[in-house]
Amino acid sequence: MADEGLKKAVLWEASGEDKRVRCKLCAHRCLIDDGKLGFCRVRKNVGGVLYSLNYDKVISANPDPIEKKPLFHFQPGSRSFSIATMGCNFRCEFCQNWQISQAAIETGGIDGEPISPETIVKAAVRSGCKSIAYTYTEPTVFMELCADCGRLAKEKGLTNVFVSNGYQTREAIDFAAEWLDGINVDLKAFSEDYYSRLCKANLAPVLETIEYIAKQTDMWMEITTLIVPGENDSQDELKKLAEFIVTKAGGDVPWHISRFHPQYKYLDAVPTPLENLERAYEIGKSAGLHYVYLGNVPGSRTESTFCYNCGRLLIERIGYEVSANYVKDSRCPDCGTKVAGFELDGK
Ligand code: SF4
Repeated sequence: MADEGLKKAVLWEASGEDKRVRCKLCAHRCLIDDGKLGFCRVRKNVGGVLYSLNYDKVISANPDPIEKKPLFHFQPGSRSFSIATMGCNFRCEFCQNWQISQAAIETGGIDGEPISPETIVKAAVRSGCKSIAYTYTEPTVFMELCADCGRLAKEKGLTNVFVSNGYQTREAIDFAAEWLDGINVDLKAFSEDYYSRLCKANLAPVLETIEYIAKQTDMWMEITTLIVPGENDSQDELKKLAEFIVTKAGGDVPWHISRFHPQYKYLDAVPTPLENLERAYEIGKSAGLHYVYLGNVPGSRTESTFCYNCGRLLIERIGYEVSANYVKDSRCPDCGTKVAGFELDGK
C-alpha cells in the first residue's frame, strides 16, 4: 500500500509528458491527468502513478446461490461468496445495483469496509461456499482486490467467478485467466446505439471479449441479456444476438434472458411482458443454443436444465435453489449426451 493508504493499480502505463497515465484495464483505456480519476471514478493518478481507491473498501459480502449470478452450469447447487466495491465503468440507466455501482459517481465518495483478502477467503470457507463471486458491479474496476482474493482462494481449493459487463481489455482477461474459473457476461443488446445511449459504452469490445474468452481461455462462460421493452427486443436484433453467441462462442454457452423491472433512472418503462421473453427464448433455441433460460420469472419451467438431445430433465430449479440434479459424469443419464459446464454432477 502507498503512504496515502492506496493500492497501486495493475495494468497501466505512463503516457508522455506531464505525469499522465493510460489505464489498460477496460476498453475505455482512460488517459488520466495527474490528480484526476478514471471514468469508473475509483482509479486515480497520483503523481504519475495509478492507484485503486476501492481496494480496501468492500461494500457488500454475502454467500449467495451460484444460480443467482446467474451461473447455471457451474458447480450447480453451491454457494458463492459474493463481494463488491463501489464504482463502475458503465452508466446503465436501468442498473439494478445502482446504489453500489453508481453511488461513487453520483456522490464522489467511496464507502466500504477494509476487509482483507485473507478475511474474505476465510469467510467464504467458513460459510461453506465453493467459490468467490466478484459481482454486483463491474469487477474489473476492483481488479486488484479480485486478484489478491482469487489467488488465495485457489490455494484454499475455491474457484472464482466474475459477473461482468465484458468490457475488459485482452490484457485484463489474460491477467485474470490465471485464477478466474467462470464468468457471466452481460450482452445487453446487439446495437451500438443501445450501448452508447443507455450505458455510455460500446458494443464492439463486449463482442470481442465474448469471442476471446470462448476461443482463447479455459473459463466457463454464460451470457445474460436483460430484455428492455422497445429497446433491445426486436425479432431481428435478438436473432442476430443469439446467432452471434452460437457462431462465435458456441451453442453450449447458456443464454439467460432476464426480465426487466423499472429501476434507477429508467422508471417510465413497463416490466418486460412475458410473451416478449418467451419469444426471445424461441429465437435462442432456433438459433441453435442448447441451454436458454428465462430469469426473473419465478416458477417458469425454463429455470430448469433439460438435455438438448432427448429432452430429459437434468437439473431442476425452483427460483435460485436446485431441487434435483440428475447429471452423472457430466452426461445425461438417459441418452449419454454430454452436458456442458464446470463440476456439474449431482450428489
Ligand atoms: S478501469 Fe476505470 S480508469 Fe481504467 S480504463 Fe476502465 S474506466 Fe478507465
